[in-house]
Amino acid sequence: GSLPERERALIARRERLLGPAYRLFYADPIHVVRGEGSYLYDADGNRYLDAYNNVASVGHSRPEVVEAMAKQAAVLNTHTRYLTDGILDFAEAFLAEFPAELSHLMLTCTGSEANDLALRVARVHTGGTGVVIAHNAYHGVTSALAEMSPSLGAAVKLGDHVRVVPAPDSHRIREAEVGAAFARSVEAAIADLREKGIAPAALLVDTIFSSSGVFTDPAGFLAPAVEAMRKAGGLFIADEVQPGFGRLGTHMWGFARHGLVPDIVTVGKPMGNGHPVAGAIFRPEVIEAFGKSQRYFNTFGGNPVSCAVALAVLRVIKTERLQENALAVGTQMIEGLRALAAKHDLIGDVRGSGLFIGVEMVRDRKLKTPAPEETARVVNDMRRRRVLISATGQEGHILKIRPPLVFSSDDATLFLATLDEVLAAL
Ligand code: PMP
Repeated sequence: GSLPERERALIARRERLLGPAYRLFYADPIHVVRGEGSYLYDADGNRYLDAYNNVASVGHSRPEVVEAMAKQAAVLNTHTRYLTDGILDFAEAFLAEFPAELSHLMLTCTGSEANDLALRVARVHTGGTGVVIAHNAYHGVTSALAEMSPSLGAAVKLGDHVRVVPAPDSHRIREAEVGAAFARSVEAAIADLREKGIAPAALLVDTIFSSSGVFTDPAGFLAPAVEAMRKAGGLFIADEVQPGFGRLGTHMWGFARHGLVPDIVTVGKPMGNGHPVAGAIFRPEVIEAFGKSQRYFNTFGGNPVSCAVALAVLRVIKTERLQENALAVGTQMIEGLRALAAKHDLIGDVRGSGLFIGVEMVRDRKLKTPAPEETARVVNDMRRRRVLISATGQEGHILKIRPPLVFSSDDATLFLATLDEVLAAL
């Protein structure tokens, strides 16, 4: 249809060169050429408010990060089989952000590799193979993780050792019962594994349940399920790839919101503000057997450039108090969204913490009937007005709002006004 010639030509070129497996955002894909702070710019110089990119968490093209990267790349880049300072400087600063029990850091290039390593470690430590995950979860691109990523779709077969439990859906389960209900599901999943002769290795969850639909409340609801898994001999792996690094405003990490200390934590996405650096953090007793019996070498993981980048990102988050900013601007956003819910019946629920927000769109508030078509229209109409968000949940009926942590109060005001216009015009 209405796509400009340039975009149509780029799409054709992509298909010819990159094949059929990539997916673009939006009915009218955007040709971006530059990013700065919370904004992206297209080839015509139009500005888009980025309310979705959690990777560029300290702002697109952040100068301090670019400088750290360039400076280190000009001096030395090698791997972890030499003694270098950068990885240790980063590890010291980074581990200080975790409870004392979590004291060993290993670095990878992607969140997928971090989860893959976490699984290997959990299996060696527990002797089990079974993994319990949440409804519509996503944990990564490898074969092992695709088998525990139902959000990839029905075409990807889940592993025989994988059990999926319903989401802790605070919109449909009474708040006071969310934790007990989730724990009962995990217990049933463990019992089912055992029935097939499979010992549990871990409960693996994204601590904000991003792809399940964004579930944050009540804080603490995750604890009984973790207790159930530990009682069964399995570990708790907290996938912090999405909620981590201060995004929730109240805490640096999603697990802290639940009063938990995981056995393994995995991190990625915002860690390098776009540079591929990720990692896993372990309790020492959990990684001991793995470390004694196996070697782990990741060619690029933990290289000096990645470590310089990750340290620069962490410093910006701390010195600019971006966690506090996430809380303040996130609260403005959540309050503003709740005010919009009073005007627009399509909004069934507004939930989240800090700058991680889900807005559930329903056709009928009493029946809570998902409204995926309307949600897709909202996402595309927002894009036409140059504000970028996406949708989540298995049906795609939950607006996912997850801007850079440098999102300002003015950005929030622009966001809310635009969403109001879009909903009014629907
Ligand atoms: N876990 C979660 C919760 C994720 O959202 C993602 C990425 N979308 C991953 C793991 C995998 O990270 P990566 O794409 O860096 O491999």
